[in-house]
Amino acid sequence: MSIGLGIGKIVIAMPGARTHDVITVLSGAAIAPLVQSFQTYNGIAPEIAWRNTAILVGAHLLSGIMFSPDLDLDSAIDNRWGPFYWIWRPYMHLVPHRHFWSHSLVISPLLRLGYFYLMLVLILVGGGWLLAQVGVIVPAYHRQLTDWILGLVRSYPQQTRAFLAGFITGSAAHTIADYLVTDGKRFLAYFGIRLRRSYRNHDRYR
Ligand SMILES: [Zn+2]
Repeated sequence: MSIGLGIGKIVIAMPGARTHDVITVLSGAAIAPLVQSFQTYNGIAPEIAWRNTAILVGAHLLSGIMFSPDLDLDSAIDNRWGPFYWIWRPYMHLVPHRHFWSHSLVISPLLRLGYFYLMLVLILVGGGWLLAQVGVIVPAYHRQLTDWILGLVRSYPQQTRAFLAGFITGSAAHTIADYLVTDGKRFLAYFGIRLRRSYRNHDRYR
């Protein structure tokens, strides 16, 4: 994000993935003290609160950087998955860009988690089936994965809540930034911030 001075107004230029990364990191740093004081205010011991805060901020970063809402279109994001980029290809084709399914505040990050889980299950089931064709029988890894996740959720409910909350805020920070540079421009204008570029075409950003 480059901030320059226009004629008495702040002008912000917003490129794609990089700016979103900066927003993810800055918003993560900004919510950390809020989350921490909210917990201690509610009587949670500081050490436990710090642990929850670390999980929440970690999930916030993970969600904004690796599970970005722009996985629906921006191949710069799925490149981050290295050799596993193809996991997100069906998602990219199934989900219309900047639609409710990819850019809603709460539902879309949870959908991406669910999609990721389903893809893992498909890979494990498909891999097991292929190996069975050549006579190699492997355990039902997809069931082990599901049991492992359910076990984690049951044994660590507080950590699970912190993770989900951070996963949602990491995605919401992106959606809010997208909104502000497109439909929400007038709010920025109200605060004297004028965008240097039009982001009407954000939908076609590559
Ligand atoms: Zn976006």
